[in-house]
Amino acid sequence: MESFALLYRLFESPSLAQNRLSSFNVSKDMSLSEKSVFGSKIIASKTHEFVLRGLYANYIQKLAKHRPNLYTYHISTTSIMNSKKHQIVIVGGGFGGVKSALRLAEDGRFHITLISDSDSFDFHPALYRTATGGKRKISSIPLAEVFNEKRITIVRDKVVLIDRKIHSLKTKNGQIFSYDALILSIGLVTNYFGINGLSELSYSMKSLEEAEEIKNHLHKQLFDDHRPDLSYVIIGGGPTGVELAGALPAYLKQICIRHGLKPREFHIDLVEAAPRLLPNLPKDLSAKVTRRLRKLGIKLYLKTPAQAQTIDSLIINSKPIRSHTVIWTAGVANNPFFTENQFQLASNKKVRVDQYLQAEPGIYVIGDSADTPYSGMAQTALHDAVTVTNNLIRLADKKLPLPYVAKKPIYITPVGKYWAAVLWGNIRLYGKIGWILRRLADLIAYHDFQPWLIATKRWLSEDDEEESCPQCADNLANSVFLDTKLD
Ligand SMILES: Cc1cc2nc3c(=O)[nH]c(=O)nc-3n(C[C@H](O)[C@H](O)[C@H](O)COP(=O)(O)OP(=O)(O)OC[C@H]3O[C@@H](n4cnc5c(N)ncnc54)[C@H](O)[C@@H]3O)c2cc1C
Repeated sequence: MESFALLYRLFESPSLAQNRLSSFNVSKDMSLSEKSVFGSKIIASKTHEFVLRGLYANYIQKLAKHRPNLYTYHISTTSIMNSKKHQIVIVGGGFGGVKSALRLAEDGRFHITLISDSDSFDFHPALYRTATGGKRKISSIPLAEVFNEKRITIVRDKVVLIDRKIHSLKTKNGQIFSYDALILSIGLVTNYFGINGLSELSYSMKSLEEAEEIKNHLHKQLFDDHRPDLSYVIIGGGPTGVELAGALPAYLKQICIRHGLKPREFHIDLVEAAPRLLPNLPKDLSAKVTRRLRKLGIKLYLKTPAQAQTIDSLIINSKPIRSHTVIWTAGVANNPFFTENQFQLASNKKVRVDQYLQAEPGIYVIGDSADTPYSGMAQTALHDAVTVTNNLIRLADKKLPLPYVAKKPIYITPVGKYWAAVLWGNIRLYGKIGWILRRLADLIAYHDFQPWLIATKRWLSEDDEEESCPQCADNLANSVFLDTKLD
C-alpha cells in the first residue's frame, strides 16, 4: 500500500500540498520517491495547477475522484495512457529483457523498445555444449527471430547514460530514448579480480563468441602443428566451470580422432578457491559432483586461488601448471553502468530494489544486476520479468502493483554426458534422471522465447555437432553421409 501512503503524504492537507508542490518547478528533477508517485511526474505550473504525468496518472485521477478531500487544489491530470501508448524501454537482450519484451508486446497499450548491445539472445545454459562441439543455434537466437512479427522496436546499441530529469537514455552512438517506464536487465560482466595476466591471456565463457573462441582454440592447437596442448585448466568450481570440465574430456578425444591423431592422455585441472565445488548445493550433492568429475579424469585443486597467468602457465600455490589453455569462469561483477549512473548498490554491489523491483520510481532493475535473493540465475531473471510486466499491466489497468515474491530456482548442473546433479527444493537427484530433467528444463526454457515447434526443433539439436575447423567439418560431413548411407 505504498502508493496510498505516498499520496496521503503528498496531498493530506492543502497547505502541505502547496508547500510541497508549489516549490517545484517544471525543470526540477522529480524522479525521487518524495516527489513522485510510482514514476508519475508531479509538475506544478506557475498557475499552481498541478499536472500529473505518467503511467499512473489515470489511477491517481481515479483516486482523486473517490477522495475529493485529499485534493483541495485544482489538480488536472493528463494521462499519456489516453493520448498515446506507454513508452516502455527495456535495456538488455538477455533472459530478463527478452522475456519482459515478449510479455508486454501482447498488450497493445505499450510501445516497447528493446535496446541491446548484441543482435542475439544468448542462451547461457548451452554455452558449454557449443564450446565443446555443439551447434551455435542452441546457444544463441537472433533477436529478430525471437521477436518475429511482434510489435517491438529492436535497437542495437549500448546504453551509457540515464537522464532521470527528462526520463531518457543516451546510447553509445548518441541516440536518445525517452521512457515512461524503464526495465534494466543488463546482466553481469567478467571480473578477473586484478589477477595478473588473466584478462589478457585466459579464455572466458559468457557469450556465444567466447564459447566459439574456446572451441576454435582447442582445434587450432591440433590443426596448426598436430601437437595437442595436453594440459587444460579451468578456473572456477561454480556451475559454468563444472559443466565445461565435465564435457571437455570426451570432446578432446573426439577432436583427436577427427584430426587422425592417436588418442592422448589429457590433463584437465579444475582450480577453485573455495573448499568445495558448487557452494549453492548441499554438501552431499557437491560431493557427488566432485566424485563424478574425478571419475571423468579431472584433477581438482580446492582451496586453491589462482595467483597469476603467464603465456604458458597458470600459477597456483606459487608453482606453475603448464598450459596454453586457461579458462576463467570464476568471477563476475555487476554491470559498470550502475556505478557510472549513480544507482544505489547493496554490499554485494548489486542494485538495491524495492518490493516492486524498482531501483527508483519507474526504473525497474531485474535479473543478475538486482539485489534479490536468487539473483544470478536465468530462472530468477525470468521470474523477475514476469513480476515487473504483470505489475506494469496491472498499473495500466489502474490496479495496484503486487509485491515481488522471490522464487527458489531449481539447480541442475550437468557433468559429462547423461549425468546431472539436481537440487529441487529439498529433493536431491543425480545421474541419468538429473540429465533427463535438465533436458526438459532446456526445452521449457527455449519455449519461454519461441513457439513450441521452433523451440522443440532447437532443443532436438542440442546433441548435434557443428565444427568450423575445416578438418573436423569434413569429417563430420563424411560421417553424416556414411550414417545416411548405412540407414
Ligand atoms: C555459462 C553460463 C551458464 C549458465 N547456466 C545457467 C543455468 O543452467 N541455469 C540458470 O538458471 N542460469 C544459468 N546461468 C545464469 C543466467 O544465464 C543468468 O542468470 C541470466 O542470463 C541473467 O539474465 P539477465 O537478463 O539479467 O542478463 P543477461 O542474460 O546476461 O542479459 C544481459 C543483456 O544485456 C546486454 N547489455 C549489457 N549491457 C548493456 C548496455 N549497457 N546496453 C545495452 N545492452 C546491454 C547484454 O548484451 C545482454 O544481451 C548461466 C550463466 C552462464 C554465464
